[in-house]
Amino acid sequence: MLGARDTAYRVHGGTGERSLGDLTIEPNGQSEPTYCECCGNRSQTIWGYIYDGNLPRAAYFVQWTLESLDHFPNLDFLIGTWGDDSISDRQLISWVFDPTQGNSGGFTVVDSQTRPAASSSLCAEALTRERVLADSGLFTRSKQMLDAVWSNDPRIEELRRRASA
Ligand SMILES: [Zn+2]
Repeated sequence: MLGARDTAYRVHGGTGERSLGDLTIEPNGQSEPTYCECCGNRSQTIWGYIYDGNLPRAAYFVQWTLESLDHFPNLDFLIGTWGDDSISDRQLISWVFDPTQGNSGGFTVVDSQTRPAASSSLCAEALTRERVLADSGLFTRSKQMLDAVWSNDPRIEELRRRASA
């Protein structure tokens, strides 16, 4: 699943941990399009990996519905150990993006339990919004990952444009 940079790494939890270094993203797959039950517009999900140096720190998923401004895009992050199947510690943190609030203010942490990734075998624990906000270290790392994906994944150019329009 991971490429040549595949390395086991454990993300330590807790407040006060150092923030991450320079993050890079590795775009990976995308879903077949589906059609939203309420509006009929096309929905899609893309995913990839986030690295801190050579260390894989998270997988990410972005899901959005084309043309439906009132459906806020979802950005989900499975943060923890990647590359060592004997360790199952990955925590799901979920954000939504409100394009009317713009690129800086539009991101909000939400409960992750109802997200598709929460039922994946890759997810050890789906975190609530409350849980993430109570842990400033976790919140900061999650926000850094969000920024890395939002700024760098070319597949979400449509979303960035919408936000700055
Ligand atoms: Zn819809």
